[in-house]
Amino acid sequence: MALVRTEGLVIKKFDYGETSLVVRFYTKDYGKINLIFKGIKSEPQKFFSSLEVFSYNEIIFYKNKNTSLHLASQCDLKENFDPIRNNLDKISFASVIMELLDVVMPLEDKNEEVFTLSFDSLKAICEYQYPDKIITIFKIKILSLCGFKPHLDSCIICQEKISSQARFSVNLGGLICSNCQKKDIKARPVYRGTVATILHIEKNNLANNLNLGINPQIKRELDYILDTFFEFHLEKKLKSEKLAIDLTGKI
Ligand SMILES: [Zn+2]
Repeated sequence: MALVRTEGLVIKKFDYGETSLVVRFYTKDYGKINLIFKGIKSEPQKFFSSLEVFSYNEIIFYKNKNTSLHLASQCDLKENFDPIRNNLDKISFASVIMELLDVVMPLEDKNEEVFTLSFDSLKAICEYQYPDKIITIFKIKILSLCGFKPHLDSCIICQEKISSQARFSVNLGGLICSNCQKKDIKARPVYRGTVATILHIEKNNLANNLNLGINPQIKRELDYILDTFFEFHLEKKLKSEKLAIDLTGKI
């Protein structure tokens, strides 16, 4: 077993026996990992973090080649994102990020861009007045980083450039042209602005994307497409998404 160091965001935690916790992190160097914190419930001061969900920690652990549960040795809280914890809307948006990391990203598959995107998005939720835009950007970016990117450059069936009304097929994972629309009668027409916004967000970083103005009609369409796309490909509705709907009535 090698003793290794990394940084990670807490996705979730579970009780393990009477005195221990298993904590799932999204880490910079190992992707999504499960660590066991032995004795933490009987001796909370043993680690310098209370391991709150979406907190950012420096972690040292024994990496075991033969199992996907590794033994935590040290953990230091680096950032608790307190401005999120004092605001129910912000908690619900941060929860969407953690849930997507949990359900979309594979276990122990390093993706530093996903780590940076998640950390920067949590920072932005703290500082930004309208965090729901951050979630829309996060969803588009994580889809493209994890390989679920929708096909938007041309018709997904005939590969022709789309000059007329485009339709978005959730089942097929991209746009279809008017000639191919019989291949998926459930495909819904989309605004050109919606497609252009997704392509812009895919190509730009979070800071640039936060400056992008998205009109409310496009934003509603984007959220609808993204949510049905995730629901179809993950085969379930996101729990935190339902929480966000209840809290804001906007999504
Ligand atoms: Zn076509």
